[in-house]
Amino acid sequence: MSEKLIAKIPEGSLNEKWTRHKAAIRVVSPANKRKLDIIVVGTGLGGASAAASLGELGYSVKVFCIGDSPRRAHSIAAQGGINAAKNYPNDNDSVHRLFYDTIKGGDYRSREANVYRLAEVSNLIIDQCVAQGVPFARNYGGLLDNRSFGGAQVSRTFYARGQTGQQLLLGAYAALNRAIAKNQVTSYPRREMLELVVINGEAKGIIARNLVTGEIERHSAHAVVIATGGYGNVFFLSTNAMNSNGSALWQCYKKGAFFGNPCFVQIHPTCIPVHDDQQSKLTLMSESLRNDARIWVPKKKEDVEKLRKKQIKASQIPEEARDYFLERRYPAFGNLVPRDVASRAVKERCDAGFGVNETGLAVFLDFSTAIKRLGKQVIEERYGNLFQMYEKIVDVNPYEEPMMIYPAIHYAMGGLWVDYNLMTTISGLYAIGEANFSDHGGNRLGASALMQGLADGYFILPYTIGDYLAGKIQEKKVDVNHPAFEEAEKAVKEKTAKLFAVKGAQPADYFHRQLGKIMWNYVGMARNETGLKKAVEAIRALRKEFWNNVFVPGENGEFNQELEKAMRVADFFELGELMALDALNRQESCGGHFREEMQTEDGETKRDDEKYMHVSAWEYKGDSEPELHKEPLNYEFVKLATRNYKD
Ligand SMILES: Cc1cc2nc3c(=O)[nH]c(=O)nc-3n(C[C@H](O)[C@H](O)[C@H](O)COP(=O)(O)OP(=O)(O)OC[C@H]3O[C@@H](n4cnc5c(N)ncnc54)[C@H](O)[C@@H]3O)c2cc1C
Repeated sequence: MSEKLIAKIPEGSLNEKWTRHKAAIRVVSPANKRKLDIIVVGTGLGGASAAASLGELGYSVKVFCIGDSPRRAHSIAAQGGINAAKNYPNDNDSVHRLFYDTIKGGDYRSREANVYRLAEVSNLIIDQCVAQGVPFARNYGGLLDNRSFGGAQVSRTFYARGQTGQQLLLGAYAALNRAIAKNQVTSYPRREMLELVVINGEAKGIIARNLVTGEIERHSAHAVVIATGGYGNVFFLSTNAMNSNGSALWQCYKKGAFFGNPCFVQIHPTCIPVHDDQQSKLTLMSESLRNDARIWVPKKKEDVEKLRKKQIKASQIPEEARDYFLERRYPAFGNLVPRDVASRAVKERCDAGFGVNETGLAVFLDFSTAIKRLGKQVIEERYGNLFQMYEKIVDVNPYEEPMMIYPAIHYAMGGLWVDYNLMTTISGLYAIGEANFSDHGGNRLGASALMQGLADGYFILPYTIGDYLAGKIQEKKVDVNHPAFEEAEKAVKEKTAKLFAVKGAQPADYFHRQLGKIMWNYVGMARNETGLKKAVEAIRALRKEFWNNVFVPGENGEFNQELEKAMRVADFFELGELMALDALNRQESCGGHFREEMQTEDGETKRDDEKYMHVSAWEYKGDSEPELHKEPLNYEFVKLATRNYKD
């Protein structure tokens, strides 16, 4: 283990670690909490739950977000649900089973202690949200209803139709508003963090840009929490919200926070396929649909040809001429295999020439069997809004013809490296939600991101941050005139001035789109040494072109979305390169990281536990190559095995 990576995992058996840790760490008295300032950047489920909880505890909290309201965070898009080990359906679920499924789903590349804690607090989240009034679906007896998600053989996903994220965020937002009304939290909407301020090795504040006026602001605190979400948009086309970006993570990385497993990104199997070159956004069709839908392509190439030429419709292809390839390859889990496994299987069929649309990059997601069995009304009750969304976008009625889907970038398992307390390698700097390198290893199971974000924000950070802040009660508020603030502000102003000065011919989007193509082709669903080396070269060349030819119109001191984009794209270049380097370094396949050189005969991931059973944490080294540190992963409680979803 690198000396700089101390994970601080408590001693003891799995089910005792968190309890013992909570008992051992320090707390701050109510009178002292008031004197301590905390900055929370981001108001998705991670940030909103953390800010509300910390405010309610009595700390003095400032919360920042890009949107015009805290509730306009990407989390609002989450559709399918949130996991918890309540075992309401009586199907033999337990904290241990949720823990085990998550470790296995992540292909044995996450920390046992963190994952167990996540499973342990999962049930508290549901209770908290119900108390807030989140309208989860209920079954006939009045208990909260559950459905199944990938990588699990039990039903543990709580949901509110196809808008679970929205309902959960409204709950967290209500809690946040209560704290705002009580002056425990001050909200700063339409602000973008542009720099982290570090004084004597400790995070002490941020530089933010007021996105409406263009004014640069300084904010100080005793601790800073990064909850800015994932960086999937480095691929340009993704299911993430347009404002999702990796810049705050990148600023922290450049100030000394290590970046954990940057190459671990998730490709979700069921997205509406790309339709043309002008597209700037991809739409997810929730994993929950795989509860009732069956994924297939025709068995015969003649049928594929006819479909592509629109001579026949999918519904005209008889049952015996369909290849339900997930059910065929993975009988035990069928259509509910984890996302990485399903995505690769879809790609395999399309690469073999069975893709069902004109581009050859689509398979069917078919509800006809379920509609016959349950009736249209039941399907409508379960997924009505998703069907409506699909029809609006594609102009095909999915009650009559199957949906067409293809994998797309969706989630980042990588992020800022954090210890058991969720603190990064910079003292006083915390990362929560999708922004940290998280508990999901090489692949996140469906419905576990909301669980992790809310676990971090409601039930973990509010305890662990106290341990750090207990040592700060004598410390005065940091003066924003400190030279470190001057320096950070200067750096921001220089970067923006440099962007305006290029006065090139192409907008930031032009470069972002091209970066996305490089990332998707070489750092996407299948990776190999030659491609990754090519990616590094291509990204460097494109970055150079960007700094010679980008055009940023307007001024700094005004509302300027082109400037916002250009700043983020500049960071995406550097982050994309680190992702490619990390993928190049990890010469094994695990979860979503599929190195073509390392696969089994039937195309499954082949891990190398001897060499790569570690978290890769990268340290910024200026103009030199970043330095790799390794946090070994020890599996004391789970037996290492090759993932098997077949039997
Ligand atoms: C379409 C879709 C559906 C999904 N469905 C599910 C699901 O059903 N179940 C599940 O578990 N997961 C789901 N996920 C994943 C899940 O939604 C996300 O992982 C999770 O919501 C991330 O929450 P977060 O709080 O970490 O970040 P986000 O919700 O992304 O919030 C980030 C916040 O940070 C702010 N921010 C970003 N950068 C800055 C900056 N520099 N300065 C100031 N503020 C900044 C933003 O304004 C925002 O407030 C889905 C994802 C997608 C894309």
